[in-house]
Amino acid sequence: AKGNGKGGWQRYQNDLHTAMMQRLEMRTALHEAIEEEQFVLQFQPIVELVDQKISGVEALVRWQHPAKGLLGPYHFVEAAEESGAIVGIGTWVLREALRQFSQWKNENPDTTLRYVSVNVSARQFRTADFADRVREALAETGARPEWLLLEITESLVLKDADKVIADLKALRALGVRVAIDDFGTGYSSLSYLRQMPVDVLKLDKSFIDDILHSRQQHALVDAIVTLSHNLDLAVVAEGIEEAGQRAALDAMGCQYGQGYHFARPLWPGDIPGLAAEYQEHP
Ligand code: C2E
Ligand code: CA
Ligand code: CA
Ligand code: CA
Repeated sequence: AKGNGKGGWQRYQNDLHTAMMQRLEMRTALHEAIEEEQFVLQFQPIVELVDQKISGVEALVRWQHPAKGLLGPYHFVEAAEESGAIVGIGTWVLREALRQFSQWKNENPDTTLRYVSVNVSARQFRTADFADRVREALAETGARPEWLLLEITESLVLKDADKVIADLKALRALGVRVAIDDFGTGYSSLSYLRQMPVDVLKLDKSFIDDILHSRQQHALVDAIVTLSHNLDLAVVAEGIEEAGQRAALDAMGCQYGQGYHFARPLWPGDIPGLAAEYQEHP
């Protein structure tokens, strides 16, 4: 921050310079990472709460950094969003998730696994040719549209709603489904969601955390689940860490869940119930 006197000003200039250099370096590094294919995917199971059978997986990106090792999204997704690199990364994630998923479906015809969920950043969603990218990725990988669930955030839906609704309709016309991610962290309401052409609501972990200890929180989640079902939305509860939470959500009629209680994000060869002829991962 700006200090007093000359020394403070100089320090401020130096800090600004350093911050700018770091941003530039990050930008360059992210673009190199795309070209050199340094990104990898883990997959976290999404299960049926009643019997814990796997119904889907969420693709979660990691950066295999040549010097720093394996980096989670918190280290780079925000910077990638700011620099625009997230568009290239997102395109890669989409194609790789569908490629891997098609392989699983082909090798495991009897699996209960029905879909792969892919995170789409606001910036990526707003590119003019996003629906074309989705169509291409499906065609290139031979994946069926119903295998794909696109996760978009609540905040995206709130800005420029008419445009977003039109884009969502075009995507769903391809046969893919759409989820609202992190529901409850923004400001949207269920009555607002009613106008949104979406299929799935992912209830944020912060909503689930207290359901066993707060009667109010339990009541709130119960009401959201009931209302969602009345709006024909499927509900996925995120961040389930305890058996008690699974039981409570199941009793509310919530059908799906995701969280460390069932499984952490896994390497492709470690998904339970799938043939595991994959290369070793770092
Ligand atoms: P998200 O979409 O809400 O994904 C769920 C995050 O919660 C994942 O973190 C997952 O590992 C973590 N998680 C799952 N179950 C539990 C649990 O029981 N307890 C706790 N404490 N955490 C749990 P991860 O992989 O670090 O990803 C963080 C965020 O980065 C994601 O949050 C998503 O917003 C973003 N992200 C990940 N992959 C992509 C991607 O391919 N594209 C974009 N645009 N964003 C991505
Ligand atoms: Ca997500
Ligand atoms: Ca989420
Ligand atoms: Ca989240």
